[in-house]
Parts: sequence; C-alpha cells; structure tokens
Amino acid sequence: MTDIPSAPLALQLDSAALKANWLWLAQRSGAAACGAAIKANAYGLGAIETLKHLKAAGCRDFFVATWEEAAEVLPHLDGASLSVLHGVREADMAFAVTTPVRPVLNSPEQIARWKAANGGPCDIMIDTGMNRLGLDANDVKADLFDGLEIETLMSHLACADEDGHQLNMVQPMIFRQLARKISARRLSLANSAGILAGEEFAFDLTRPGLALYGGIQRAEGTGHIQPVVQPRAQILQRRVVRGGESVGYGATYVADRQREAAIINIGYADGYYRAFSGMGAAKLGDLLLPVMGRVSMDLVTIDVDGAPELREGDWVDIDFDLAMGSAFSGMSQYELLTGLGRRFSRDWI
Ligand SMILES: *Cc1c(COP(=O)(O)O)cnc(C)c1O
Repeated sequence: MTDIPSAPLALQLDSAALKANWLWLAQRSGAAACGAAIKANAYGLGAIETLKHLKAAGCRDFFVATWEEAAEVLPHLDGASLSVLHGVREADMAFAVTTPVRPVLNSPEQIARWKAANGGPCDIMIDTGMNRLGLDANDVKADLFDGLEIETLMSHLACADEDGHQLNMVQPMIFRQLARKISARRLSLANSAGILAGEEFAFDLTRPGLALYGGIQRAEGTGHIQPVVQPRAQILQRRVVRGGESVGYGATYVADRQREAAIINIGYADGYYRAFSGMGAAKLGDLLLPVMGRVSMDLVTIDVDGAPELREGDWVDIDFDLAMGSAFSGMSQYELLTGLGRRFSRDWI
C-alpha cells in the first residue's frame, strides 16, 4: 500500500520550551511539587507526547478531565500519578476501580459511590467560592470522609489572573479553614495564574496548564514563559491580484494596487478563526505577510508582495502570539490553543 500523503499544515511543538516552562513554574511553586493539567488533549498539543516530555522534565502529577482521557494516557504513566478532575459517574466505576488513577470526588454522591466500591486512594475538590465543581462548604463534615484515603485535597481559583481581586484573598483563607477538617496527604490550589500570583497560593502541589503551553495571563510570566506551539501551513497557489480586485468571501479586501498573494492550507475549521480575517498574518522570518480578506473554512490568502521567493509547496509560519491573538479576537488563550484542529500534523522538535 502507498503511504497516506503528509498533512499540508503542521503544529511545530517545542519540547525544550515546554520543559523550560514546567521547570520555571516548578521553581515558582517553591517547596510545592508542580504537576500538569493535560486535559483536552493537553490543550490541543497532544496528551501522550506532552505527558512524555513533562515526565522527562521531572513532572510526577497529571490531571485530565474525564476517564476517556485517562484511558488514553494510562499506558504511558510509568508510575506517575494521574487524577480525573470530573469525578466518577456510575458508568465510570467499572473501569476506574481497575486503574491506579484517582478520581477527584466533587460531591457527596461521588464520595458515596467511591466508598461503596472500596475504590482506593482518591482526591477531593472543595468549592471555595467559584461555584463550579467541588463539595459545598456546608457539606464538609468529618464523617463524610470516614474510610476514604485522600491523597490530594484541592480547590480551584476563580480570578487568579486578576491581580488584587477580592476572591484571591478569600479563597485561600476558606481553603485553609476547610482543610483543617479533612485529612489529606497534600493540599493543592494554584493553577498557572495562581503560581504567578505568589507562593502563598502554592500549598503542597500546583496544577498549571495554560502557562506550560505558552499562555501568559499575568505580567510575571513575560520573559519567562516561552511559546511552545507554532502553527505552519503550506502554500497551495501563488497568484496576482490586480489593483481594484477583491479577495475572498464577501470581497472585504480590495487591492489598492497590483499585489502578489499566496493561498495557504489553513482555515477556521483548523482553529484559525474568522477573527483573524484582515487582522492576522503569516511570517517568513521576521517579515509579516498579512491576511487578505476573510479567513475561509480551509484556506487563507496572505499578501506575499514582499516575498517574491515564496512558491507553491513552501511553508510559512502563522503568527500565533497567544496574548495578542486573544486581545484582538476576544477569545481566551485557552480557546485559541484548544481550538487547534485535528488536521494539523503535530511535530515535536
Ligand atoms: C484546567 C485546570 C487547571 C489548570 O488551569 P490553567 O489555568 O490552565 O493553569 C488546574 N486545576 C483545575 C481544577 C483545572 O480544571
């Protein structure tokens, strides 16, 4: 059989940058251990490869959202610890109890289910003001936890990316109070932004996600957190756009004079969203090649007037600065990463 042709679009993933980001976050975590959230396919990068690189850097504690995600990385754990943030449903139990993976129990129902099955070590999430997943403070009574072997007691910060938000004072305080009533081996509160907010958020174990993958939400990360994800796309065609002619759907771009254009193999179905229409750019070295007109589902047209050497089949980098892309698209850095689609080949360097 002949080989399947390679993809005309790629995510170039920088393992050295990923490791450096984890090491920096581990250092910022002080005495606390530093874990990694690899849910949502490691924010789009690919869960298995990301796990392997982070393990090589020294990471021992991983977090996914669902048991399906746990099953994918389970064969690659090699003794590292894995927790499932979304707890256990009845439908998860048969699988869950056969694994060394811990559920993060979020409700009295989940706790009862895990106890009844004699499920083994578990984690507990308590809510300290976000009102998302986690036990309500009123449900925290000592006998609720009788018979449980709690490895990590955790809570989650709602506003760690906003310096000075009142919840950043309140949540660690409530967490400390509730933790006194629950016996757990380790306490864990901080996500990426929580680590940057200060060591008082770190407790025994931190759980960064976004910052590992190059996201910067707080000034403390600037100059330290490195980009990991570089989307690239292949040129499918080069053409001349004459003065006064338009480009793309809706004819939103009209050439002021004759210009050279290249059509590249990426579009909003790949997570290069329509917000990049007329705003985004590709890059050749330092030279910016602006997007002309609207982003299509599978194609983008870029201005290559300044790059006469580019031809069909050549590759260009996509300008994918997360903070900047987020600022002009109104989408979060999380959405930009997790939106990167299935058609990219994911190539680690
Ligand atoms: C996703 C998630 C994290 C990681 O958050 P980032 O903001 O990406 O660092 C940590 N803890 C919990 C409970 C999460 O759901």
